[in-house]
Amino acid sequence: MAINNCEMVCDLLPIYVEGMASKSSSEYIEGHLNECAFCRGELEKLKESVIKAEDDKLALKKIQKRIRKQKSLAVLLAVAASIIVLILAFGYVTAPQYLPFEEGLVSIDYNNGLVIAEVNDKTAGYSIETFIYSDGKHNSVDLSVYTSILSKSILKKRSESVVLNPGGEKVASVYYVGNDGNPDRLIYGLEQNPSGGRISLPRLVLGYYFIISALIFIILLVARIFYRKQEKPARLIGTALFIPLSYMISHLLVKGFNTISFTATRDFFLIMLVSAPVFFALLILSKIINTAIKK
Ligand SMILES: [Zn+2]
Repeated sequence: MAINNCEMVCDLLPIYVEGMASKSSSEYIEGHLNECAFCRGELEKLKESVIKAEDDKLALKKIQKRIRKQKSLAVLLAVAASIIVLILAFGYVTAPQYLPFEEGLVSIDYNNGLVIAEVNDKTAGYSIETFIYSDGKHNSVDLSVYTSILSKSILKKRSESVVLNPGGEKVASVYYVGNDGNPDRLIYGLEQNPSGGRISLPRLVLGYYFIISALIFIILLVARIFYRKQEKPARLIGTALFIPLSYMISHLLVKGFNTISFTATRDFFLIMLVSAPVFFALLILSKIINTAIKK
């Protein structure tokens, strides 16, 4: 009978371990366990396997949680990438394409002390830069006219009148600047360099900004190595590293390897605009990599 009792008790043990056995069954099982080393052993084995199953469940939950986190990070990364692409596309279709001078593109009128430039309907916009003329009393004005992919294909064009001296300042000369490396063309007033033409050169400032970013990046990288044993500063510097890195990546996205520009201010703002989503993309990417590495 003893063996049969053991069989019965062992059959009931799973229910007993889960606390599902009735009170009388539990009392019977406990009474038997007090006397039977074999069934006590079976109970221990059962308890161990239950603990192991729960551990497995916990590990599985952890993995699922990690996958969920990875998925939402991937979605965020896709959002950041889409924003970057949108800004770049917008920058591309609105990029000024400076028009070389041709007859009828711009005409200058002088009316009641105002110098007025009339640009024809081939253009999307114009830019004006005013300088003090060499005599210190007059102004000299650089006028550029541009179009863009967007304006050529979609926007409605119209001719426009621009007052070059809204305050009635005296204007000595107006130059048409093609921003293409060709000599600027005098379209009103006096030639500034009677001996030779004048050429407007592209600006180099974006190249300097890129170099400054690279230097800041290197300094932070050295600091990051220096503080590698201190968790908090190391993490802070690690995040700060992404700022100059974002700027450099954005420069490459907007300008490629080109650092000279006739539209440096516009390019700089575009680079800054792209830098923000690039920065977040880098943060997300580092989180994705960290979660993947972490066990
Ligand atoms: Zn037994």
